[in-house]
Order: sequence, then structure tokens, then C-alpha cells
Amino acid sequence: MISKTDSLPKWDLTDLYASREDPQLEADLTATRAAAAAFESRYRGTIATAELTAGHLRAALDAYESLLRQEYRPQAYAMLLYSTDTRDAGRGALLQRVREFGSSVAARLVFFELEIARIPTPTYASVAASPELERYRHYLEHQRRLAAHYLSEPEERILVETANARGQAFARLFTEINGRTQYRLDDHGETRELNQSELLALLYHPEREHRAAAARALTDGLQRNAHVCTFVYNTLMHEKDVLDRLRSYPSPETSRHLDNELDPEVVETVTSVCTANYGTVARYYHLKRELLGLDQLVHYDRYAPIAGEQSEIPFAQARDLVLAAFGQFSPRLVEIAEPFFERRWIDAEAADGKRGGAFCAGITPDLHPYVLMNYTGQPRDVMTLAHELGHGIHDVMAAGNHLLDYHPVLPMAETASTFAEMLVFDHLQQTLTSDSERLALLCSRIEGTFATVFRQTAMFRFEQNAHQARRDQGELATEKLNGLWQAAMQDMFGDSLTLGDDHGWWWLYIPHVISTPFYVYAYAFGELLVLSLYARYQLEGADFVDRYFRLLEAGGAASPACLLQRLGVDIADRAFWQGGCDQIRGLVDRAQDLAR
Ligand SMILES: [Zn+2]
Repeated sequence: MISKTDSLPKWDLTDLYASREDPQLEADLTATRAAAAAFESRYRGTIATAELTAGHLRAALDAYESLLRQEYRPQAYAMLLYSTDTRDAGRGALLQRVREFGSSVAARLVFFELEIARIPTPTYASVAASPELERYRHYLEHQRRLAAHYLSEPEERILVETANARGQAFARLFTEINGRTQYRLDDHGETRELNQSELLALLYHPEREHRAAAARALTDGLQRNAHVCTFVYNTLMHEKDVLDRLRSYPSPETSRHLDNELDPEVVETVTSVCTANYGTVARYYHLKRELLGLDQLVHYDRYAPIAGEQSEIPFAQARDLVLAAFGQFSPRLVEIAEPFFERRWIDAEAADGKRGGAFCAGITPDLHPYVLMNYTGQPRDVMTLAHELGHGIHDVMAAGNHLLDYHPVLPMAETASTFAEMLVFDHLQQTLTSDSERLALLCSRIEGTFATVFRQTAMFRFEQNAHQARRDQGELATEKLNGLWQAAMQDMFGDSLTLGDDHGWWWLYIPHVISTPFYVYAYAFGELLVLSLYARYQLEGADFVDRYFRLLEAGGAASPACLLQRLGVDIADRAFWQGGCDQIRGLVDRAQDLAR
């Protein structure tokens, strides 16, 4: 674990606001509220009419887009500030305040998307074809597709205004419980208190007894919170069930697929290809068991390093590695990534009370993104840094789009992040000289890929089963959910690794499963996509670079099918996804060769 004295960067959020007390924050909230009221009085009742003109709709869209940009700044500031200390009541209160502000603004704006959905079809057909609306065509088409699932305006307003007293409140409670929990680790008879990030890092410890102790401490902490967290999950699943019914979504996954602009058949193709390739996971863990010299692998052996004790990587070295790897692909990546370090757009310390995991927040096209991570000096942290910077690069490159097309949909959002990890992996492999070091690196790469492709697929299956069970059977006991989790995960390992009973509780700290249902398959989609794209880069070299940049620059301006078609990829084709899985199988083959 990284020594507490190693200096890790902390955010400088002053590009957003000077401090929590900055009067500009209050002024922005007031101005945005006024702008929302003015927008409503100007445009309400003027969109869903047969007389609508392209010029009028264009003006409304421009005003709407700029209003949202204005709204996101205080929202982002409060969220970022809160993320680095979820225990600070003042930060929690500010977050809640801007969310309530967001709801009050959204309530005034609800009519607009509803009216877009209800523009009479012949009128829509003629105005949408106008060059004036070219800029917003993708957004408009997407809104029209959502139309069938909208409720009446008064109903939508109530949902918007009560959002923070329903699901979002429960999701925040879940974040706070996990952020605050101190885990009691039994370290040779002495008890040490660790936060979740510190504890999870111990699952990568070379000595089995340390990993086992960390696993016990994790289970123990999760068990203490299990009652509340199970209640939170049941409540969120129930809320989703009710809303899906009201909105006529045929299945728990449908709304996510629609948001992702993916056909359900494509998602089924991707995830079923992954499930069909679980054998690759089992083959690797049989090899890993031999390499570790163990009779049987259990859940806390999954991440055991192959090379024994690994030296800590200081953050400055991680930065140099990542920038060097980016530079081999294109100097443009370095130019974009450097300011993240120089201008303190990264918060890397694994501090108590800080949110676990990592994220990159791209806010609006005219603001730069921010990266949060919990750096503990492990090789996988270098990969996480590359991953989040990949997101940051994507955000910066997509900044030529208007806000409504700025963010890529989730399945595309993992493209640049995963690609960045590949670049760092390749760079590291070139710098190593011995086969044993190469094998250790390759194994950690394989495990990282498994975590993204197969583990996320297994989580997706867990979510499908959990939501279905909640709908069929009502409120689910923790033990029931534990059983579903265990079954979905064990399926992936086959007979190569036995998950102990402890592991059944480990769904209780996965944030995506709780707060963003069915998010996880986007990771599998993204990684398999990038494995295939990366293979092309290796074939085509420099020719590929510009086409790749154009993909990133497009942001969320088109559906995944359309964006990838421009690269000659058919996402409905099972063989394309199998190609990604074949790449992973190739990595395992290479590990087997190196091990010999
Ligand atoms: Zn990511």
C-alpha cells in the first residue's frame, strides 16, 4: 500500500467555484432558475403544434442547451466536492441543495421534451428535414423514440420534483454507508481499521493469509450493513418496477437499452457471446492455480499476483508510464492528458470518507473534465489512471458537440478508456525484459479483461435475475440475493475456482448494480469492441489513428450502430463479438506458452 507520505494530487475545483461560499454559486442558481422560468413562458405550448417552424424549434433548442449548460456547473461542483469526503455534512447538504435546485429547474423544463415527442408527425417530418435542425437531428430522433414511454406532463413533473425523496435518496444512502464504513482487519491478532479502497487493495496481496483476512473483514463489514443495503436495493428495484409499468417498458432492461440506443437483440448477442466463452475464464484459472501452486482456488485467490511481492509504483512514475504509452500512439493524446496532471484535474488520494473506485466527470463541452481515483500504488492503479484519462481524452475530443450530443452513450463511453489501458499494457510489455515479468503483467491484463468482459456479464445476469425475482416474488431477503450473486459468479468460473460462502455477500458494495441498473453490460460491449479495434490498429498503424479520433470526436452525436458502421463494423454480427473473445483467448494461450 502506498505510504501516506507519498504526495498524491488533490483536485483544484476553483475553475468551477472559488469555494463553497463563492457568491457566484448562489448567483448561478438564481440566474438559472430565472432562465428556466423565462424559457417556460416563452416556449410552453408552442412546440407540439402543426404550425411549428424549423426556425422556432432551432431557437428553442439553442436556448434549452445553454440553459442546461448553466445548470450543470453548480451540479458538478457539488458532486465533485462531495465525492472526496462523503462524511462531511456540509458537502452532503450542498449536494442535496443543488439536486433539489436541479429538480425544480427540470420540473419547469419537462414540457419541452414532451412537446418534442408530440409534434404532429407530418409537421415533424417537414421541420426535421430542414438544414436549420441538422445540428439537433440526432437528439430529436432520440426524443421521438422515447415518446411512447412518457407520462402526462403533471405526472412527469411530480416524478421530477420528488426524485430526491425517492430512488436518488436511497442511492445516496448506499453511497454514504459504503463511504463511511471502516472495516476491521485482523492483522496477526491486532485489529486495524481500513476503508473500503484500502481493504480491496489487500485482495491483491501476494500472501494468502493477508488476502483471506481482507476477505473476512470485507464480508464482516458488508454483513453489518446488509440489512440497510438490502432494503435500499429492494426499494430501488420496486421503484423501477412501478415506473417501468407506468411507462410501458416491457422488461427491466428495456429503458437502459433505449438510453444506450442499442437494440435489445444486440445486447443479447454481446452478452450471450460472453457467456458462451466462460470456458476461457475456467481455462485461465486452472493455469493460475498451477502457477500459484495451490490445491484449490477460492474467491480471495482471484487477484493474487503471479510474481510474488510487487514493488509499489509511485504516482509520478504512473504518470510517466501513461504519458509515454499515449505518446507512442499519438502526440495529441499527450497534449490532452498533460493538463490533467499540471492543472490538478485529478484527485488520487485514497482518503477516508472518499468515494471508492474511480470515475471521470465530463461536465459540459465548455468545461474540462475531472478524474477521481483511489491510488494505492498497485499496477492495476496505473491501468485505472490510464482508463480514467482515456475518458477524459474522449470528453475533451468530443467538446465540439453541443451538450445534448456531448456525452457518448454508455456502451461507447468505455471505448477511449479501454483503448488507453491497451496502450499502457503494450508499452509496459515492451519495457519488460524477462519472461516471468511478462507473464505477471499478462496475467494482470487477462484478469483485468475478465473483470470487464465476463465479470460484468455475470453481474448483468445477476441483475436480470434479481429484478425478475423482485417482480415475481416481492421483497427479497439478503440470503436470496446472495444466492443469485453466487450462482451468477460461479457460473463464470466453472470448476476452476470455488467461491466460498463469504463471497455471497459481495454484491453489497457494487455501486452500479445499486444505483444504475444494467449499466454493467456496457463495459463488456466496450471492451470487446476495443479488443477488435485494437487488433485493427496493430494491422493498420498510423492509418487507423485518424479514424479512431473521428470516432471519439463524434461523442454522442449518433447511435453506436451508426458510429461503428463508419468504421466498417456491424454490431449485430455475432462473429464480430466472437472476434473480441478470440483475442482474449489468445492472451490466455500466450500466458500458457510463457508459463511453460
Ligand atoms: Zn470507465
